[in-house]
Amino acid sequence: MPDSGARPFGRVFMPGPTDVRPEVLAAMNRPMIGHRVREMEELIAHVQPRLRAVFRTERPVYISASSATGLMEGAVRNGARKRVLSLVNGAFSGRFFQIAKATGLAADAVEVAWGEPHTPDMLAEALRKGPYDAVTVVHSETSTGVLNPVRELTEAAHAAGDVVVLVDTVSSMAGAEFRTDEWGVDFVLTGSQKSLALPPGLAFGVAQQQILERARAKTDRGVYFDFLEFEKNIAGNQTPNTPAVSLLYALRAQLDLIEQEGMEARLARHRAMAERVWSWVDHMREERGVAMRVLAPAGYRSPTVSCITVPAGWSGPKLYAAVRERGFEIATGYGQLREQTFRIGHMGDHTVATVEELLDVLEVVLENG
Ligand SMILES: *Cc1c(COP(=O)(O)O)cnc(C)c1O
Repeated sequence: MPDSGARPFGRVFMPGPTDVRPEVLAAMNRPMIGHRVREMEELIAHVQPRLRAVFRTERPVYISASSATGLMEGAVRNGARKRVLSLVNGAFSGRFFQIAKATGLAADAVEVAWGEPHTPDMLAEALRKGPYDAVTVVHSETSTGVLNPVRELTEAAHAAGDVVVLVDTVSSMAGAEFRTDEWGVDFVLTGSQKSLALPPGLAFGVAQQQILERARAKTDRGVYFDFLEFEKNIAGNQTPNTPAVSLLYALRAQLDLIEQEGMEARLARHRAMAERVWSWVDHMREERGVAMRVLAPAGYRSPTVSCITVPAGWSGPKLYAAVRERGFEIATGYGQLREQTFRIGHMGDHTVATVEELLDVLEVVLENG
C-alpha cells in the first residue's frame, strides 16, 4: 500500500473525510488555550459570523466537539416531541430513523429505493397518516449521491401544521446551496470533515426558536447535546464543555479561506466539479463503451458526491483498490451498494483540475483492467 502520509493534497476523493489543505492542517500546530479565557472567546467570536455566512443564517451556529451523528441525536432529543417521520433513501437517512427510534420516540419511515429522492407530495401524503411533529431528512445522501429538495420538503412539512424539519447537511453544507433562514429550516446540522474540508471531530448546528421552545418542554433531552446549553454558551462566545481547541484553530483558518473564495464561487466550483464527473460518466458510456451511469436521476444529484454504477467485470472494492494503487483514493459503494457502485467525493477544496487528474487515473484503470 502506498504511504498515505506521503500523498500530496489533491488525491483523496473519499466523500468524507475529505482532503484537508496543508495550511489548514498546519494551523492546528499551536499551544493549547483554556476555554474560559478571552483568547478563546475571541476565536469563537471570529468564526461565528463566518459560520453564519456558510449556513446563511442570522442565528448562532453551535459548535460541538463530536462527530455529526452527535447532533443528529441532539436534533431528535431537542426538537421532536412524540412522533417522528423519517425520509429514508440511503444509509445516513436510515441512521436518522434509527436514532429517532433509539431515543424512545415513535417513528415511521417514508422509504424510497436507494438512489431516489423524496418529493413534497410523498411527504404531504405521509404526514396526513399520523400526528407527526418532526421530520428528519438528509439533504445530500452520501451513500447514493442523491440531493433531496429540502426547500420544497420544508414547505410541505410546514403546510401540514406544527411540524419541524430536522436536516442533515453533513456532506452538502458549504458545497451545495443551502439557505437555512430563507427556506425556514427548523434545525440543520453538519460535520467538519466533508464539504467544509476540515479534519473530523467537529459538528455544527443551527436551531430556530421553535426548536428551543420544544427543548424547554422536554425533560429527557440529555446533557451533552442539550441545545439550551449550546444556546446559552454561544451567546458569550463559549461552548458548554471543553472545545476541541486544535480543531478550532483549523476551523478559523479554513473559514478565512472560505470567506476569501466567497460562498457563491465555492458553490459554483462544486457544481463545475460535479458536472465534469457526470459528463465524464456519459462520455465513458457513450463514446468508450464502458457501461456506467450516475445512480441519482438528473435534477436530484448532489454537487458534492457522485455514486456511479461499476461496469461489467468490476466491483466497488476492486475499483477502489486499483485506484489506490495509483496513489488516489475514492470510495467503494456504501452498504447494500458496496459492490455495484463506487463513489467520488468532489467536495471541499478540490478543483476541476484535481478532479481531471482523478478521472484520468480512472480512465486508465477502467480501460486496462
Ligand atoms: C458522514 C455522514 C454522517 C455521519 O457523520 P459522522 O461525522 O461520521 O457522525 C451523517 N450524515 C451524512 C449525510 C454523512 O455524509
